[in-house]
Amino acid sequence: MEYKLESKIFEIISRAADKKNQDAYVIGGYVRDLILKRPSKDIDVVTLGSGIALAESVARELKPSPRVNVFKNFGTAQLKYRNFEVEFVGARKESYRSDSRKPIVENGTLEDDQDRRDFTINALALGLNSYNYGQLLDPFNGLKDLEDKIIRTPLDPSITFSDDPLRMMRAIRFSTQLGFEIEPKTLQAIAANRDRINIVSAERISDELNKIMAADKPSVGFKLLEETGILDIIFPELKKLKGVEVVKGIGHKDNFYHTLTVLDRIVPHTDDLWLRWSALLHDIAKPATKKFIEGQGWTFHAHNFVGVKMIPKIFRRMKLPLNEKMKYVQKMVMLHMRPIVLSEDEVTDSAVRRLLFEAGDDIDDLMTLCEADITSKNSEKVKRYMKNFQIVRRKLKEIEEKDAVRNFQPPISGELIMEKFGLAPCREVGQIKDAIKEAILDGLIRNDYNEAFAFMLKTAEDLGLDPVD
Ligand code: ATP
Repeated sequence: MEYKLESKIFEIISRAADKKNQDAYVIGGYVRDLILKRPSKDIDVVTLGSGIALAESVARELKPSPRVNVFKNFGTAQLKYRNFEVEFVGARKESYRSDSRKPIVENGTLEDDQDRRDFTINALALGLNSYNYGQLLDPFNGLKDLEDKIIRTPLDPSITFSDDPLRMMRAIRFSTQLGFEIEPKTLQAIAANRDRINIVSAERISDELNKIMAADKPSVGFKLLEETGILDIIFPELKKLKGVEVVKGIGHKDNFYHTLTVLDRIVPHTDDLWLRWSALLHDIAKPATKKFIEGQGWTFHAHNFVGVKMIPKIFRRMKLPLNEKMKYVQKMVMLHMRPIVLSEDEVTDSAVRRLLFEAGDDIDDLMTLCEADITSKNSEKVKRYMKNFQIVRRKLKEIEEKDAVRNFQPPISGELIMEKFGLAPCREVGQIKDAIKEAILDGLIRNDYNEAFAFMLKTAEDLGLDPVD
């Protein structure tokens, strides 16, 4: 069977490899994605000989000749061609010793190189020389696994996973991204080797987690992480959400599966990784705040506040950004119950104005999160919430147009108050400023300089302060 390699770059590599009398193959993800008809930007070329020398020959064949980035320590070289990143490496044989994580790397054959790949579907290679151009080299029946949608290691899975435990995360990530099953022995080996994940860096784990988050159905990955015991090691806070406690015949919902449902439900509405993280973390403090109260049932009082406090520790450990991305997730978690509470009562203007003031430009994301959070099986209840959310959304729009409190800047500054009443910085300045803000949010006055100025004069008078002029 011959495969059609569409880009001109393959012909150029072929010519350069033939000239050097050196065998070259395209291997791994590019071949897998070509057969799956998925777009792919990375081309990995493996060659029997020097990858660096082949890359330099390929660059010379191209007009204009691109820059070749050489990584001498790894024996690899990389160049860009149109949208592609092409990486060249000599075929390698790797052997691991039990007392060291670092493999011994030697030159090897194509088969040696395929042996050290993580999965059969990632070990497929296509010949690039003229004698075997486009021919599939598939020693582990990876093509069949691609057709059957199966993730399987080329060697004994315990060896593959023990050699590089990140592959356990990769198996789960590919299963999530591609909708493939992990073959039972491979899955068992992940569970058996789960503790080895401890030697993998937090950055590499988070990269995989983020790829799971970016998939169409992230719950698949998190369920597999849970079933194999890996979740408990890398993300114990999430694992703790699992389970239902029953007291006096009253149970609460399983917050692990609820969270995963919310996460899947938000996917069609956003590609934003951090809104998806907000969905994953919105109830993270439920186990820590859970209480059974006689007559009330299960409560999770202040789980949003406690959740906000838990987030920096989680982000730091996972080497996720501690900047405005984290602050955004904290804000979403903090506010995630507000639209629901709001829609349970009569939706008043002042409640909507306050929500808009606190959420600012993130108000639409917050509404998206809240709508995803309605996972009740009671269709009457769902209908009622959704209807109320529509009212909230409509009111948000009205109030926004009328009062412009999104990203609210107080119309009267502290300096102006100090100047007007001859005050040094003191408690009263803060009191007056706060009173003006509250009056605007309550709708007593409009968000307008003149109205705020008049209100300031009155508030100061009540406090016994006189203007200086
Ligand atoms: P993606 O681009 O979605 O991450 P990919 O399979 O193209 O998927 P890369 O990480 O670029 O991923 O890896 C390219 C190829 O290198 C893989 O297809 C696989 O053959 C091999 N590979 C990558 N990481 C490992 C690993 N940890 N162990 C063994 N082989 C690996």
